[in-house]
Amino acid sequence: MFHLVSSLYTQYTKREQYNILILGLDNAGKTTFLEHLKLLYSSSTDTSSNKKESDARSISDILKSKRILPTVGQNTTTIKFESSIESHLSSQFKNINLKFWDLGGQKSLRNMWSRYYNSCHGIIFIIDSTDTERFQECYETLKEIAHDESWKNLENGDENEILNIPILMLANKQDLPEAVDLVSLKTGVFIQLVSELEATDSKLLPVSVLQNEGLKESLEWLVTRLIYNKGNKMPEYK
Ligand code: GDP
Ligand code: MG
Repeated sequence: MFHLVSSLYTQYTKREQYNILILGLDNAGKTTFLEHLKLLYSSSTDTSSNKKESDARSISDILKSKRILPTVGQNTTTIKFESSIESHLSSQFKNINLKFWDLGGQKSLRNMWSRYYNSCHGIIFIIDSTDTERFQECYETLKEIAHDESWKNLENGDENEILNIPILMLANKQDLPEAVDLVSLKTGVFIQLVSELEATDSKLLPVSVLQNEGLKESLEWLVTRLIYNKGNKMPEYK
């Protein structure tokens, strides 16, 4: 009885927290993404759409004026997520914290990533859509994540399972004329991996982190997947 009461208490007073890793090669836009989220979700409670639009524009200006240096250690931030979509899931979108980990993307730092896999609920993998020279390296990095040994040890112990959490792949820098579009990305070097991942619980979406295009929609998709995946990977309660 005590346990029942205390778990109900926990459920109603604590917030669900989902941990999300932001991964990708260096220079993909990971830190810019994180900085943008901080600005998007930090303050405004005003819901008028005009106000929101002008906020988004000024946020983009703030961001462009910031000097973001290559990440050496790790940046983390926790946001209170609020959905702008009215749906049957709306009530489940309440009381959610998202904790983001932006880990450095340079080659020497990438072997640290797997240490975080056991405690994360989702991954955002950012691709620089203009960096065609490194598409192969980018593909191999994503493949290593998807096939990492750590996923096998997770709860259900299924040796064959590659991954039991969603990966949101973002084709970033779509504002630049030289950016490779989504269709070409999906049919190029990434073709097999992306279709393998999209057949499970993952998705590739086009964004411009700097211009604030596609960010909210992508995040809504990810949160929906995190909620659907709750049975597989329980959130933390904070
Ligand atoms: P990280 O190494 O993955 O953390 O990448 P950063 O966030 O430091 O960004 C690397 C560079 O890409 C910076 O000069 C950013 O301003 C730039 N950048 C990030 N996102 C975009 C975008 O959507 N469009 C454009 N044009 N540049 C971007
Ligand atoms: Mg960085």
